[in-house]
Amino acid sequence: MVFCAGANLRHGGFGAVVGRRQKKVPPLCWRNLYIFSCSYDSSSEIISLGNTRCFRHWSLRSYSFKEAYMYKIAVIGLGPRGISVFDRIIAYARNDASATPIELYLFDSKEFGPGCHTTDQADHLLVNTVACQMTQFSDDTVRGAGPLLYGPSFSDWLISKNGSGTNGVGAKVEIDRNGYYSRALFGDYLRWGFEYLKKLAPPHMTIFLHNYAGVDDLSWQGNRWHVSYDGCAYPADFVYLTTGHARKVFSDAERALVQKVEAARTRNPRLQLVLEPYPIRNAVSSVTAGDTMAIEGMGLTTFDLISQLTAGRGGRYEPCGKMEPAGRLRYRPSGQEPKILLYSRSGLPLTARAVNQKGVFGQYKPKYLTFAKLDALRAESDGGQIDFQKQIIPLLWCDMQFAFYFAYLHTQRDKMTALMFSNEFMACENAVARQALIDQHIDRREQLSWDKLVDPVPPLALKSRRQFDDWLRSFMWRDFEHAKLGNLDSPLKSACDVLRDVRDVVRGAIDFGGLYEHSHRWVLSEFLPIMNRLAVGPPKERIAQLLALMDAGVVRADFGPGAYCELDESGASFTVHSQWAGEMASANVLVRGRASLPGPLEDKSPLMRKLVQRGIVRPFMNGQFHPGGITVDRNMNVVAQDGAAQTTLWALGTLVEGCKFYTFVLPRPGANSTTMVDAGRAVGNMMSAIAARNAARAADVAADAAADAAAAAAAAVDAGTAEAQQAPNERAAFYCGVDDAPAAPLARAQLTADFQH
Ligand SMILES: Cc1cc2nc3c(=O)[nH]c(=O)nc-3n(C[C@H](O)[C@H](O)[C@H](O)COP(=O)(O)OP(=O)(O)OC[C@H]3O[C@@H](n4cnc5c(N)ncnc54)[C@H](O)[C@@H]3O)c2cc1C
Repeated sequence: MVFCAGANLRHGGFGAVVGRRQKKVPPLCWRNLYIFSCSYDSSSEIISLGNTRCFRHWSLRSYSFKEAYMYKIAVIGLGPRGISVFDRIIAYARNDASATPIELYLFDSKEFGPGCHTTDQADHLLVNTVACQMTQFSDDTVRGAGPLLYGPSFSDWLISKNGSGTNGVGAKVEIDRNGYYSRALFGDYLRWGFEYLKKLAPPHMTIFLHNYAGVDDLSWQGNRWHVSYDGCAYPADFVYLTTGHARKVFSDAERALVQKVEAARTRNPRLQLVLEPYPIRNAVSSVTAGDTMAIEGMGLTTFDLISQLTAGRGGRYEPCGKMEPAGRLRYRPSGQEPKILLYSRSGLPLTARAVNQKGVFGQYKPKYLTFAKLDALRAESDGGQIDFQKQIIPLLWCDMQFAFYFAYLHTQRDKMTALMFSNEFMACENAVARQALIDQHIDRREQLSWDKLVDPVPPLALKSRRQFDDWLRSFMWRDFEHAKLGNLDSPLKSACDVLRDVRDVVRGAIDFGGLYEHSHRWVLSEFLPIMNRLAVGPPKERIAQLLALMDAGVVRADFGPGAYCELDESGASFTVHSQWAGEMASANVLVRGRASLPGPLEDKSPLMRKLVQRGIVRPFMNGQFHPGGITVDRNMNVVAQDGAAQTTLWALGTLVEGCKFYTFVLPRPGANSTTMVDAGRAVGNMMSAIAARNAARAADVAADAAADAAAAAAAAVDAGTAEAQQAPNERAAFYCGVDDAPAAPLARAQLTADFQH
């Protein structure tokens, strides 16, 4: 069904009839919502249609024919990144003094807003960022992203929703700004954010909503893009690609493994291989209490899987008795849990996020790894590239040391000592001087060690599986206790949090091929896993829960560093091999515990396949290295296969992970969030292009008018009559509605007159 409400056909040339009504109705058009209205006044109009509400308002102001040219903009993918683009388009358009008419076409294969934070997932699946440090909106710290448009952070939204009694249960619930809430709730916030922004759309913008519409093609035809789905094409002058997380085409090795597992299943029907863990509920729904499941990787996805198979199946955590340390949990199984085996390259789970003591805006300000230093390093380098390991890590390490020793001396001694030390530390000329200063104040055993951060497993723990297991449990508990102290009071967590706080500078070093090829490879294979383990872990409660599950015998994580799993074809089972020869365990389910982040060549989506085929995108390469993602320039314009930047096409988010670094985090308030800055730059660019086109059109109009005037004057001289000496515009007005009047100029004048009412 196609809805077209309130269209004023007199002005249909600018909105109404350039709609789907002129097009072939697609076979699955029931999925498409296509609503708008035009009105003379600028009041918005709310239209209720079934269970879907939508609105459009559009006022027609005094445009001349050419100035009133309508620009069509398409955004493909309305998850968090797409909303940031939507936000910027609205913000810029609201501040557009020329009120250039815009048609905005929004496409998402699901509902608008949540993206991968779907609202139908279980409440035990949590976002791993505290509520006050997530937002979808800009704030005063955001620079270079265009006009500000204020909106609530996630925690502000939770508080206001709670206060307004719309929390579903009527009762007020204490909202913890530093708490971790469910991803479903966060998805609700994003959905709300989309509606909020929609209401802020200015009168000269018409929004076309195409949800549950998976765009399957994008092509350049004539002088416009054509965005297609279900056999229908929508023209657009400007297009934003914000399609986010994608699925991966299996590699040859994966396909071969799948085939072997299929074959072995004839001998063991319970054998299962899960290569795509999301949505979690579907991925493990057929795993039963009788199964043993091996999970490859010990990151955030694995915590999701564990949660789904334990709390998600009715298991409960309760505090241990008073004899146990505070925070220690006991697991009460439901009996529905499978046995779970965890293994990974490091053999270690991610470490816990510390209690946030920095509030909403608090962030460590780098003293060593600064943008200025980065610029200086680049200036010294021949090709502008730098070596992360040799040039960035030492600076990063200084900042981590600074944060560590300040916290250490502040908590162990007093603030004055900490401040004095900090001044002296910053005055040190080199690493030797800094170490001498540290030695002077802090016992060696208490000092921060990069080697121990990278590889905390002591040789003794590697003597046997049992020793490793004991060590791991105490390591995890110590980590929990550090996290409990907080990201300022725990020296260790304070140092690790620097990795999050200086991420923008780290990005500055890596983005757009900023590193030598070998260094880029090193960052992704060595540094990234360490950074994730130290700084991007789950809430500390997840670590306490994992310990409880290990105590209850539900989870085993005693395989040590370097463990791996292989299919035992003859036995029709999987075998997890530990660090210790002969110490292994068998499983009948193997799950890959990480979300895929495919590059363009392995992306399963029909849209990306077409973009690659058409040469509209090209995989990002740093020398011979393809770290993933497509190539964009610094304006986020997509670079085509032939190397040309396409100035009307932008890509943001995980699509460009490779060319950019760490594109998948949500905007943080008070941090001049990269997400906002990138979106702002891309939209600002488009608005400049629109302004330039308008100026060119205005110049055309002026030239036409001058030519008309000259022609009229010449005619007047020729005819020698007083009537012929009237100005062309007056003539146009005189001839309005007269059948035999010259067509084109009068039609143009009529429109101009109408708009001026
Ligand atoms: C399970 C999971 C948990 C996460 N948790 C956190 C967290 O706690 N904190 C954090 O900072 N980050 C988290 N992330 C990272 C995540 O990348 C960001 O939070 C954010 O969702 C990225 O937004 P996005 O818009 O780029 O992508 P997405 O959220 O994936 O949204 C992309 C949107 O594009 C749509 N789309 C895709 N293809 C098409 C098409 N062809 N046509 C039309 N529409 C299309 C999709 O339907 C989707 O709505 C998590 C990621 C995952 C996978």
